[in-house]
Amino acid sequence: MSLTALSVASEVYPLIKTGGLADVAGALPGALAVEGVATRVLLPGYPAVLAALQGAEAVLDLNPLSGDAARLLAGRAGGLDLFVLDAPHLYDRPGNPYSGPDGADWPDNPQRFAALAQVAAQLGQGALPGFLPDVVHAHDWQAGLAPAYLHYAAVQSGTRRPGTVMTVHNLAFQGQCDRAWLPTLGLPPESWAIDGVESYGGIGFLKAGLQMADRVTTVSPTYAAEIRTPAGGMGLDGLLRYRGAAVSGILNGIDTAVWDPASDPHLPAPYSAGALAGRQASRQALRSRLGLIDDDSGPVVGIVSRLSWQKGMDTVLDALPALLRQDMRLAVLGAGDRDLQDGFARAAAANPGRVGLHLGYDESLAHLIQGGCDALLVPSRFEPCGLTQLCALRYGALPVVARVGGLADTVIDANEMALAAGVGTGLQFANATPDALEAVLDRLAVLWRDQAAWGRVQHNGMASDVSWAGPARRYSALYREAAGRG
Ligand code: ADP
Repeated sequence: MSLTALSVASEVYPLIKTGGLADVAGALPGALAVEGVATRVLLPGYPAVLAALQGAEAVLDLNPLSGDAARLLAGRAGGLDLFVLDAPHLYDRPGNPYSGPDGADWPDNPQRFAALAQVAAQLGQGALPGFLPDVVHAHDWQAGLAPAYLHYAAVQSGTRRPGTVMTVHNLAFQGQCDRAWLPTLGLPPESWAIDGVESYGGIGFLKAGLQMADRVTTVSPTYAAEIRTPAGGMGLDGLLRYRGAAVSGILNGIDTAVWDPASDPHLPAPYSAGALAGRQASRQALRSRLGLIDDDSGPVVGIVSRLSWQKGMDTVLDALPALLRQDMRLAVLGAGDRDLQDGFARAAAANPGRVGLHLGYDESLAHLIQGGCDALLVPSRFEPCGLTQLCALRYGALPVVARVGGLADTVIDANEMALAAGVGTGLQFANATPDALEAVLDRLAVLWRDQAAWGRVQHNGMASDVSWAGPARRYSALYREAAGRG
């Protein structure tokens, strides 16, 4: 049976991206098509999105949240069928989707994303003739009110609504705002309740979605378990336990057409598991690009990451002396917290040839690091899924990851037993502390000295299925469950 889904997200690759959410929202529709699910993606009309949207047609006049006039555009871009909310008063601004050029969040973010969710709910109720989704899939807090608007609209009108799915890509971002916003956001007075949108005395966008969606998913089974505990639940573990079997974890995949070393335009030469010699060109290109000493006495360890506490980047700086003692070199691409940027800049200045750094966002260099580093370090304190370790597996860089969330689910630690059984794909360590990091770097150095074993781990990694095929089957099954309940 074919199914129609409306996916609602605040960023979608390749149109606009600040992190993994965009990758997921951009890749899942194509994978779901194979499963008989036709997906339309709704996203805000930021300048970059409008510029990319060719042949767009205005299909609906709107005034979200009873505010200024807006239009719904329908068109195709980046291989996706899109609905774009063209609302200049909300989205025609410089900066990234959430903050201005000064880095501060826009003060009207509650309004900007409630408008998106409200339009999603209107589409879910059939506002656009000829389009009626079976399922509305809300991604992260920015879309979290969509299940709530749909719920209250169905209660009020006594009509059937589509099934709803809420996916948490990162529980740390909950979209909390003051109670005073309630009337502006067009939420009914009865929504101000513990089983409504109320969250710790304010309005919780994500909380609302977790409370009201028919199904809740997060992006790995281990993170789904972690967020039900006080240690990992960030204040919402009680609600997540209460939702019981409605909560599940579905791993992310990566777009294996975008991330394919056999045809990657960002690499100097193609390679594959069967023709690994071509990888040498990427290794050399990376060293020369970041000014790293070109010898093979130790591995080049890569990092492609937001520079933040979540990602454990402070620990990398703490463990740097141990890394350098092992004759390793570090290749870092990242942007984020000022202190961490400064810390990495100081480390690079103090260790020329041994710490190579590019501060900023650079899609092309991200590919070259995956293709050219020997191991990729992901020392997150928590990690809902993580995508960079999946890219590393596919590109033949050994992932070295903290044993949390999706990192625990996607990398098989090459311990003695795993090596004997021939199944290891990388290294795991307990948690993001300097001691644990130093210990895993010692293990990495031992493995480097046994190049035959290293090669086996690398081949196992490259043979891992990191595609969207399996996850798309699971989402499709979940959509069918949710659609049956709407
Ligand atoms: P996040 O928590 O940031 O979403 P993920 O691992 O899920 O972490 O996704 C990060 C995505 O962003 C990956 O596709 C990664 O390659 C990309 N990325 C992160 N930092 C940079 C950067 N500085 N330049 C280019 N791409 C980056």
